[in-house]
Amino acid sequence: MYPGRFAYHLPDSLHEAVGNLERGGGDARVLAGGQSLIRLMRFRYESPSHLVDLRNLGLSGIDEFGGRLRIGATTTDAFLETSPTIGNNYPLIADVARVIADPLVRNLATIGGSAAYAHPSGDWGPALMAARATFTAVGPGGQRSIPADQFFVGSFCTALGAAEILTGIELSGLSNGGGAYMKLHRKIGDFATVGVAVQLTVDADGKVSDCGIGMSGVALSYVRASKAEEYLVGRTLDRDSLRRGSGIASEETHPVKDARGSAIYKREMVKVLCRHALETAAQRAGVELED
Ligand SMILES: Cc1cc2nc3c(=O)[nH]c(=O)nc-3n(C[C@H](O)[C@H](O)[C@H](O)COP(=O)(O)OP(=O)(O)OC[C@H]3O[C@@H](n4cnc5c(N)ncnc54)[C@H](O)[C@@H]3O)c2cc1C
Repeated sequence: MYPGRFAYHLPDSLHEAVGNLERGGGDARVLAGGQSLIRLMRFRYESPSHLVDLRNLGLSGIDEFGGRLRIGATTTDAFLETSPTIGNNYPLIADVARVIADPLVRNLATIGGSAAYAHPSGDWGPALMAARATFTAVGPGGQRSIPADQFFVGSFCTALGAAEILTGIELSGLSNGGGAYMKLHRKIGDFATVGVAVQLTVDADGKVSDCGIGMSGVALSYVRASKAEEYLVGRTLDRDSLRRGSGIASEETHPVKDARGSAIYKREMVKVLCRHALETAAQRAGVELED
């Protein structure tokens, strides 16, 4: 099916882009990679009257400064998948970038588009929660920063206002520890049946000083396993504590039965994936786990 009629805008500045969005009222949409939005428009699930294309706004690329990593909102998954900086220093981000969809989608889909779309089985959401990302956005009221816990509001729902544009994502402390993302999917190109992201920091005594765990496909929106995080912080990691932490994370989920599996199956898979993600993150943080 063809999309409905819309006015197309290709602004050269954020100011102009926000103006375009305001002019469309609640009926204007930002266009990033178009991999989700254009499909929704072709099925007429979405029929925006204005489309505001972000491609000329210079929001792509990565920047490292003062121990922080900033990823521009329109940075594609393919860029992140192939970036030596990401591959060498940010394993959590690299893990996610290579398992999203398929190479054709990854060439166009953007990290900001994925975050703004907030598909409950999406891959970036849990990783950005685990990494305690901060989202920067620009709208009619100026610029603001939104922590990940507040950014993801629910299924396909974020804290962004109708005329707000996500401009970038900031991450700190990732290069000090270890991160990992594990995804169970039925086939290449499918959304996660279950996805678990872990970011760990371990102090000089070998104890966990910080731990973030985000999960996908396990509820109507992303879930942060805050009780499992609490259990793991301050502990020396061994196989037993990792197994126990994964069990706690699994208890924090509220999966629903769908074509990808039953609720019980998904909960069991969280235990397995979380343990693997914790083990990999721990090893990447320099922890040697005894058998
Ligand atoms: C075949 C296929 C398989 C897929 N598999 C996976 C998968 O395995 N895992 C996964 O996580 N995703 C998957 N996706 C989703 C894919 O990653 C999406 O394209 C992505 O979620 C949206 O990114 P985009 O840049 O294409 O955004 P768009 O489609 O352009 O936009 C999506 C939504 O976000 C809004 N938006 C986009 N950018 C911004 C911004 N900067 N500020 C404010 N609002 C914005 C748009 O208005 C729109 O509502 C798949 C998609 C396809 C087509």
